[in-house]
Amino acid sequence: MGPTPPRVERARLPAASSVLPKRGAKPKSTRAPRRDGDPAPPVPHLFDDLPQLTGRLRSATRLALLLDLDGTVVPLRSRPAQVVMDSRTQQALAQLSRLPKVGLWVISGRRLADLRRIVGLQEVKCLGLHGWEDRSGRDLSASTARRMRQARSMFEGSLAGLPGVWIEHKGPIFVVHHRGAPVDSVRRARRIVRELMKEFQATLRLMPGKKIWEILPSEFPRKGDAAAAIAALQPPGSVLIYIGDDVTDESAFRALPGAITVRVGRPARTTARFRLRSPVEVLQFLQIIVTAVGRPSP
Ligand SMILES: [Mg+2]
Repeated sequence: MGPTPPRVERARLPAASSVLPKRGAKPKSTRAPRRDGDPAPPVPHLFDDLPQLTGRLRSATRLALLLDLDGTVVPLRSRPAQVVMDSRTQQALAQLSRLPKVGLWVISGRRLADLRRIVGLQEVKCLGLHGWEDRSGRDLSASTARRMRQARSMFEGSLAGLPGVWIEHKGPIFVVHHRGAPVDSVRRARRIVRELMKEFQATLRLMPGKKIWEILPSEFPRKGDAAAAIAALQPPGSVLIYIGDDVTDESAFRALPGAITVRVGRPARTTARFRLRSPVEVLQFLQIIVTAVGRPSP
């Protein structure tokens, strides 16, 4: 018999009303102590000024809403395969995609087919592998594909047997995961990854994320490239929104200087203009957009 597949649980989100900021409530501190004693600079919470925010959404001629998936609209799980989208989030995305002035994209590091399966809505535009995979798909050059195969084989050999460390294959790229791994295991894995990357630094790059190291070709796009391409197609008077939770999203924040950019999760060094605490608050924001934009202007 083969190994037991991981149990898939539907992500549970508390009622959106229970996470709404209370009227007059003092915003929680955005400062978090860092190991080096240098606090992350404060970033305003997106809901600090809701009337101004909803006014801006209502008056926009068009809204382009760009969303990351994991850690943004769905909570992170110990294994990527365990992630399931909450039905209320799916409903909000479906409502948004039906609004005539809203364009909706989900840009993820996942493979496109996997991303589409989780989103589960034909009408939502999805971009996989940080924008590399769109409807048409693409191929790596023969030399880059060969280097990726060499790297994958060396990483597999060197990391084999380290408790809690495993490699996820995502077509042309791969990811080293260490969520939940013992500290010593992570330390050794980090050392190995750094050493191996020296061999490949001319053609490959390392993208650190939440409990992962992603190994990609240098020629691979960043999410910021995909975001900038979408932004360039929007008509004047558009408002762009980008929401993401990880280092990979920072390139998109930088690529959209006039946009409503939002970093999700615990306070972190970010170029995003606003923050939200969790996917629960992201759902709350999606519902706010539906209400603000779905209703005719007074
Ligand atoms: Mg993410």
